[in-house]
Amino acid sequence: MNIIWFRNDLRLYDNKVLCSAIADAQQRNAAVVGLFIATPDTWQQHNMAAIKQDFIRRRVVCLKQELAQLNIVLHTLEGTDYAATCDVFAQVQQHYKIKVFVQTDYELDERLRDHKVTACLESAGNELISFDSQCIMPPGSICTQQQTMYKVFTPFKRNWLSRLAEQGVQCLPKPKTLNVANGQLVDLHLTAYSTMQNGDNSSIKWPVEQNEIIDQLRDFCQHKVADYEKKRDFPAISATSKLAAYLAIGAISAGQCVARLQLEANDTWSLAKTGAEVWLSELIWREFYKHILVAYPDLIKHHAFQTETDNIRWSQDQTLFNAWCSGNTGYPLVDAAMRQLNQTGWMHNRLRMITASFLVKDLQLDWRLGERYFMSKLIDGDFSANNGGWQWAASTGTDAVPYFRIFNPITQSERFDPKGDFIRLYVPELASLDAKAIHWPHKNTQLSTAISDIKSYAAPIVDHAQARKITLALFAEVKKTDESTSKD
Ligand SMILES: Cc1cc2nc3c(=O)[nH]c(=O)nc-3n(C[C@H](O)[C@H](O)[C@H](O)COP(=O)(O)OP(=O)(O)OC[C@H]3O[C@@H](n4cnc5c(N)ncnc54)[C@H](O)[C@@H]3O)c2cc1C
Repeated sequence: MNIIWFRNDLRLYDNKVLCSAIADAQQRNAAVVGLFIATPDTWQQHNMAAIKQDFIRRRVVCLKQELAQLNIVLHTLEGTDYAATCDVFAQVQQHYKIKVFVQTDYELDERLRDHKVTACLESAGNELISFDSQCIMPPGSICTQQQTMYKVFTPFKRNWLSRLAEQGVQCLPKPKTLNVANGQLVDLHLTAYSTMQNGDNSSIKWPVEQNEIIDQLRDFCQHKVADYEKKRDFPAISATSKLAAYLAIGAISAGQCVARLQLEANDTWSLAKTGAEVWLSELIWREFYKHILVAYPDLIKHHAFQTETDNIRWSQDQTLFNAWCSGNTGYPLVDAAMRQLNQTGWMHNRLRMITASFLVKDLQLDWRLGERYFMSKLIDGDFSANNGGWQWAASTGTDAVPYFRIFNPITQSERFDPKGDFIRLYVPELASLDAKAIHWPHKNTQLSTAISDIKSYAAPIVDHAQARKITLALFAEVKKTDESTSKD
């Protein structure tokens, strides 16, 4: 029997694992079943957001129905943590001779889990077959001439694009319905995954049915991508694809995104600075961070990419951290952004950069605190993109923003939310202020309008100009130590 063990590839289209398992079964006249194992304790340890857990649950319910139409049964089990996944296979192989098909995972605990499952299967003469299909170009396939991983994005992107031009992107179709009702796992004493709604239905605004997801991609490529370059930095405008959540759980593949982009955007995807080209770049950033993670597995252990920055004496001040988390820093755009994250489970990319920079460069808090908090709230939480984004903002990562370039949260606000529309959405205390005053209400306390509302808004928790100097000194300390050590 062939088992398709679905993890971060919860889709029917362009699914190499699914197609290979079916093709192999047909060749050997074997049965095929799907398997999904929820591991709530591990998800908790990994700070997976409740909204993401709900999103996965809803997607699994749909996937089960979609697979049933192909005559494939999806068994949904619950195994507390990764250790328990071994117990599942140990039990299954007491009854069946199995081949297990999976998509390769890159994070540490996931790799350890797969090693253990492989050993368990092999001990009974069974096997685990992995497909490296999270990226269009698998990690390790885009290298420098010395066969090492690029440390900066631009040459990586150039190489990635020339590979795309050579090989194109081929998406696998949805498999055909199998002729007969296929295999089932019976007589097992395993806990079923409760896919019933358990009160937390927080992801309900995110459609999970495969055709709706594909429509969202098509709609973005037909109607929005042309303006992506011009509009993507303005959080009050809905100008981005909102597909990261689907990519993170594999409800859609990167290949589907690029194939659709090429189809809809004709040749503009290859022309510099067009919306299509810039969007494609973002998808390449996604792959870049996955390649980096595989090449530098220490990142998974929360080390900085630029190792000397691990010596920075970051603050752990809980009061400042709480103010940042709850959106009460006194900096309107930072607060609006954090409230967007807390209320919706998603935050606009420009705001992720601004809030991350604020945590690190204005509050001098350890970037790992912010990384963990984002993960615990984001519907699109993904280790490599989140770690990459945080280390970029903290100037500790590969190709990071230089440490002396520090975002000014007020000028960022004036530039990217010029009318204050986004701030008004999430910081109602400031809604009555005009487009000028809203970015920095503190010098306007004598304004006659809505003074009582403004008083209910937080006072600034730090002075940006002073904070900037402190941060520069913190970085200078480790950069100096690093220079003197390397001279010795
Ligand atoms: C501090 C910080 C934390 C982040 N955490 C995450 C995270 O946990 N998960 C996540 O998917 N992205 C993360 N990002 C990247 C980016 O903010 C989101 O991918 C994007 O905002 C999601 O919205 P969208 O789907 O509308 O993106 P679009 O603008 O439509 O972009 C298309 C796709 O490209 C990918 N992408 C876009 N920007 C980036 C980027 N900078 N790095 C890697 N991939 C990118 C995503 O898969 C996204 O869906 C983070 C960025 C920062 C600065």
